[in-house]
Amino acid sequence: MAQPIVTLTPKDFKSEVKPTWCPGCGDFGVLNATYTALASLKRPVDETVVVSGIGCSSRFPHFVSTYGFHSVHGRALPVAQGMKMARPDLTIVTVGGDGDMFSIGAGHLLHAALRNIDITLVVMDNEIYGLTKGQTSPTSPTGHTTKSTPYGLLASQFNPIATALSLNVSFVARGFSSKPKDLAALIEQGIQHKGFSFIHALSPCPTFHNTMDVWKANVQPLPTDHDPSQRFKAMELALETEKPYIGVFYHDEERQTMDQAAHHLVQQAKPFDLDKYMSRYA
Ligand code: SF4
Repeated sequence: MAQPIVTLTPKDFKSEVKPTWCPGCGDFGVLNATYTALASLKRPVDETVVVSGIGCSSRFPHFVSTYGFHSVHGRALPVAQGMKMARPDLTIVTVGGDGDMFSIGAGHLLHAALRNIDITLVVMDNEIYGLTKGQTSPTSPTGHTTKSTPYGLLASQFNPIATALSLNVSFVARGFSSKPKDLAALIEQGIQHKGFSFIHALSPCPTFHNTMDVWKANVQPLPTDHDPSQRFKAMELALETEKPYIGVFYHDEERQTMDQAAHHLVQQAKPFDLDKYMSRYA
């Protein structure tokens, strides 16, 4: 990783493209928190890549002055992991929404957890599909009425933090877009963590499912005596859904990352004579 430089501000991470989100969208708070986190890390703008899939929140890379990759629906994690394996010197921040990451892209979460590649995932959760105008997503509450569920949602509500903990993701946190300073600190810690970091960002969609007032009234900081090395205790706290906790639920500093392990293997590999190998087929 490059040595930190000292002269960056959040403005340096703003691109010339103005966000196209609806007024009041929670994603603005997440974007500002990300600018602050990236500036705090003091790494050059061109040594970071922001990767997304598809959805309102996945427009994110356009609004950041780093390198960016607006990929395909549900596939931001494989793209980001490939980047980190090829370029371990880069900081890779993956962003997306609850539909993108917990529905079509859900299977990739499992493999990202197992590989523990050193990337950061920020999921902007508004409990709805916003871009396609308000259908239920995996995090929509049971009974929720939309155009796609006129009699109310019959499925259970997905719990992102409990799932990340059960997959043994090596850094698990939750923030809220209306608390951008706290969220920025979580994103910064997630990026500094060596391994796969998962940040669940509550980010209301005022246009199709406005949870702003509910979350403002109910989010609460994790208990001050919570020890983030205790995964079972973190799981207990993750199961509180009426008054969701924000903060670092869990982190594990010790685990090997796949990018480090692969780099080590490359260092150990003996030189390979391709001509000699191919001569067997001549
Ligand atoms: Fe944000 Fe909802 Fe508008 Fe999409 S539809 S930009 S999630 S407020």
